[in-house]
Amino acid sequence: MNKKTFKIAAIPGDGIGNEVLPEGLRVVEAAARKWSLDLSFETIEWASCDYYLQHGKMMPDDWFEQLKGFDALYFGAVGWPDKVPDHISLWGSLLKFRRDFDQYVNIRPVRLFPGVPCPLAGREPGDIDFVVIRENTEGEYSSLGGRMFEGTEHEFVLQESVFTRRGVDRILKYAFDLAQTRERKQLTAATKSNGMAVSMPYWDERVAAMAEKYPEIKWDKQHIDILCARFVLQPDRFDVVVASNLFGDILSDLGPACAGTIGIAPSANLNPERNFPSLFEPVHGSAPDIYGRNIANPIAMIWSGALMLDFLGNGDERYKAAHDGILQAIERVIAEGPVTPDLGGKASTQDVGKAIADAL
Ligand code: ATP
Ligand code: MG
Repeated sequence: MNKKTFKIAAIPGDGIGNEVLPEGLRVVEAAARKWSLDLSFETIEWASCDYYLQHGKMMPDDWFEQLKGFDALYFGAVGWPDKVPDHISLWGSLLKFRRDFDQYVNIRPVRLFPGVPCPLAGREPGDIDFVVIRENTEGEYSSLGGRMFEGTEHEFVLQESVFTRRGVDRILKYAFDLAQTRERKQLTAATKSNGMAVSMPYWDERVAAMAEKYPEIKWDKQHIDILCARFVLQPDRFDVVVASNLFGDILSDLGPACAGTIGIAPSANLNPERNFPSLFEPVHGSAPDIYGRNIANPIAMIWSGALMLDFLGNGDERYKAAHDGILQAIERVIAEGPVTPDLGGKASTQDVGKAIADAL
């Protein structure tokens, strides 16, 4: 049993991050009372565009020192494109966390809840229940490359990808380990080795090598193009889907979109070795268009909180129970109400947060 007190940094960020994070905390704290979890919270006021406008930077220079002792960062959303360009706000905060805290696993669970209108015709809740694992630190997203002969007709641009054995194997191991814990024990690796002749054949090789260590797992690889089509046409085929940074980025937006509103999709950025804090955040952004109206759906934030408890507990029964309990409460409130306008209801952000906390 885990006797440690977990330190959580609550970082609202921008826009509706400020509205949904309090509801996430409300539910996480209610779960902590119910299941006797040992959590402490501290609110971090920086990592926001307001801070940038006052200080000329998104975070204080010693942000790493200030945050590295936390077990988890519970993060709202960042960005306010009218005031601060996205490349400044994102690269100045969230992407620094992911990179400097080596959060190399990005997880997005995708599940269709009863009562959520599904954009895919004829799909029942049981049909969509899978998880996308994205490599979060290398692959296609590198800053290696450049331009030559600029401004001439010979102009050309080169953008390199980076696949290291360490980087590829650690994400594949995480994905296979996860598949092992799930009922269906099934894994799909995204690839494009028919088009990308160097990196993706290597990726495929490492997938096959890793698969040998997991004889119980049914696995296959699928080219990213047909994989995207199957997310839409046959979402029931998937259990754990693992992908490189670019392909994972695409799949991890497509997946939640197939399961209804962006307002419920959660994500986790993990450093599985726990050398650094992991980060838990809704998939959606700061949504300036609805900020201030109290209509933001807090469920993505709340579900992200459940993922945080599950990760922190690291197998501890109480934390597992808290995760499962929060998901049941979410399921019930989505089915019975109250829900926010994006799910066809009239409730406020706070109404939904309170209802889920009460349902616990
Ligand atoms: P980012 O680049 O930060 O991801 P984005 O431009 O993708 O931001 P979001 O902030 O995610 O945009 O918003 C996309 C759309 O979804 C907006 O119309 C927004 O109002 C809506 N939306 C986002 N989050 C929620 C939420 N929690 N509840 C209801 N609607 C939401
Ligand atoms: Mg977005």
